[in-house]
Amino acid sequence: MKKYASLIKTVVDFPKPGIAFKDITPLLKDPKAVEACLAKMVADIQGPVDYVVGIESRGFIFGPLLAQKLGCGFVPIRKKGKLPRQTLAMAYDLEYGQDQLEMHCDALPHGANVVLHDDVLATGGTASAAVKLIEQLDGIVLHCHFLMTLSALGGREKLRAYPVDAVFNF
Ligand code: AMP
Repeated sequence: MKKYASLIKTVVDFPKPGIAFKDITPLLKDPKAVEACLAKMVADIQGPVDYVVGIESRGFIFGPLLAQKLGCGFVPIRKKGKLPRQTLAMAYDLEYGQDQLEMHCDALPHGANVVLHDDVLATGGTASAAVKLIEQLDGIVLHCHFLMTLSALGGREKLRAYPVDAVFNF
């Protein structure tokens, strides 16, 4: 995967000073790179998966593709006010700001086996809130899989109760 890591560009001070933003758009333009990322995700994930749950918004890029590869459904976790039916909400802190995540209350059947996916694991605040939502809806988090982790920001520690993998580690 090393040859594809250079397709992720670091943009300093975006969207605000002090943030080193990881831009995945060059990687998305390369179908071989996308296929290789998906193959690594599929190889890492063990056991029968009922749903891939992806976090808005960049978790919606690889999330549905991964679900297709695993032969399972995709469930979105969205930002506040975007889902049309009854939702469960969870507030969270992120590397740049604060927000609220929501899931439809009937998104998961009881005991569903879930893989959580997002593009970046940074401080882990977003993914921790997502895990809480899934568990409050009686889902089982089998695995958390990210396109990349930013290891200096400590997100893996927040998710230590779960298997965590990523395609790229920076
Ligand atoms: P965190 O809650 O700190 O783990 O942040 C993860 C969420 O914020 C993910 O949904 C990412 O899309 C976004 N994010 C955080 N840091 C970055 C970064 N350096 N570059 C791109 N996206 C980021």
